[in-house]
Amino acid sequence: MTEIKVISFDAEGTLVTPDFSQAMWQEAIPALYAQKHGLDPAQARKAIIDKYAEIGDQRLEWYDIRYWFGSLGLGAPEPVIQSCLDKAGYYPEVNGLLSSLSDKYELVVASGTPIELLRCLLRDIEFYFSHIFSSISQYRQVKSPEFYRAICQEMGVAPHQVVHVGDNFQFDFLVPKEVGIHAFYLDRSGKGLKGDPCPPYPLSGEGQKERGPTLPHPLSGEGREGSLADLNQLKSHLCWHDS
Ligand SMILES: [Mg+2]
Repeated sequence: MTEIKVISFDAEGTLVTPDFSQAMWQEAIPALYAQKHGLDPAQARKAIIDKYAEIGDQRLEWYDIRYWFGSLGLGAPEPVIQSCLDKAGYYPEVNGLLSSLSDKYELVVASGTPIELLRCLLRDIEFYFSHIFSSISQYRQVKSPEFYRAICQEMGVAPHQVVHVGDNFQFDFLVPKEVGIHAFYLDRSGKGLKGDPCPPYPLSGEGQKERGPTLPHPLSGEGREGSLADLNQLKSHLCWHDS
């Protein structure tokens, strides 16, 4: 029987709500850009959004706040980060879930967010984690197969002893699955995916109403058929049906 030793979480959109990112990338940065360059705020916002889209999330620059502040001529990012930190928050189930899981598993974060932002975002829950990995800052890559292999090696565990949970279908599900990690896709949009190869997690369906509170949206992924006893237990925790 496979023994799960580590549960790895993505950060933004999985543990951390999008409010901080929204405030910084969509509001504060465009507002500062407009101010610095004497532009109309709405025009500046559109220009910035277009620039984000030109780069796209497959390139390292997308995640690199210093790249953006440098290329947009905005000075140092720290004051803007600080001004948005009051927006940083966690999904309601996160503290209870981490507290419950930390009794039995080693918990880590595996994120594409730069480490300086990650430390700020995780400041109230950081004590739950033995490692906080930033693929961008520590490995200079997006969450690739090499990144997941490297963090397993650093933790001294095999990929099949790790569960990873996250809200990005490519970086949190397909990629970790490729290296043998048990991956769960957390669909916080609740919309599912076009041609979704992973039907919604069983406990997120009709039956869950009688079970009490659950994660707010379906959780689906590898191993959901329950071939691993420990994974079944994890699923129960993740579905949070006995809070
Ligand atoms: Mg995410």
